[in-house]
Amino acid sequence: MSTEPIRLAIAGAAGRMGRAVLECAAANDRFRATAVLVSNEDLARSGTIRAGDVDIPAATSLNDPCDVLIDFTTASGTMTWLKVCRARHIPMVIGATGHTEEQVAAIASAANEIPIVKASNFSVGIQAMRAHIGAIVKQLGADYDVEIVETHHRYKVDAPSGTALSLVDDIAHALNRTRDDVIFGRAGRTGTRPQGQIGVHAVRMGEVVGRHEFHISGPGETLSITHTAHTRKTFAAGALRAAAWIIRHAPGLYAMKDVLGGG
Ligand code: NAD
Repeated sequence: MSTEPIRLAIAGAAGRMGRAVLECAAANDRFRATAVLVSNEDLARSGTIRAGDVDIPAATSLNDPCDVLIDFTTASGTMTWLKVCRARHIPMVIGATGHTEEQVAAIASAANEIPIVKASNFSVGIQAMRAHIGAIVKQLGADYDVEIVETHHRYKVDAPSGTALSLVDDIAHALNRTRDDVIFGRAGRTGTRPQGQIGVHAVRMGEVVGRHEFHISGPGETLSITHTAHTRKTFAAGALRAAAWIIRHAPGLYAMKDVLGGG
């Protein structure tokens, strides 16, 4: 039995992640990229994007039919494509990060009308980490200090990473704390560390694809969990999995754990 490939629109296709998604889709019969969406600046640089050994024409507007749009642009780029998807009832996979509270609210509002998967990190390993850190901080309790360290390549434009913020939210939720308990870096005469504070640190260097460290330290011991993404294909494969999943679902805002949970 032959099934038609899933038609993908890829927004941010000239970027590092967009290209990784295109490459992964080109290598998989289940998908066909029908729209390769770039910014005006990207288009001025090149009218095509290379996927495997094929050059695909790029566009700044969505002219061809698609079953789902995958967004790896920027926080404001997401808003542009959210409007298009909402107006045309196209399911969305949002991988871009760094959204403001207003932008997060706009995504949630659009999800009343279209199905959306939004994930700050599409790797399966990070999902496993997120599934456990809430239980760890709860079990070790108030005598233990929590610090998150994230490391990314020098081109990343937002800090801390969306994934670090997701980890913080998991920890804060488990401990009944809020973002007010979070400190983003330290400098100067900080005084001693307040109990319950969650420290977050962003390192930017070289070509690092993405590393997230969770440390929890208390009387006489430290427990650390580190996730390292070695290639952007890890995220791209997760985004494609989410794309195949979201087209079978009703309007709503879904997370990667929903995708991995089946349903
Ligand atoms: P990048 O800068 O290499 O690529 C972004 C591209 O989007 C650029 O080419 C830019 O010109 C383009 N763009 C901006 N606005 C656009 C618009 N309106 N329409 C079309 N294209 C537009 O960045 P990157 O490393 O590919 O990362 C992209 C985003 O994905 C970032 O927000 C990053 O944090 C996030 N990210 C998420 C995951 C995940 O698993 N969710 C993994 C890696 C990166």
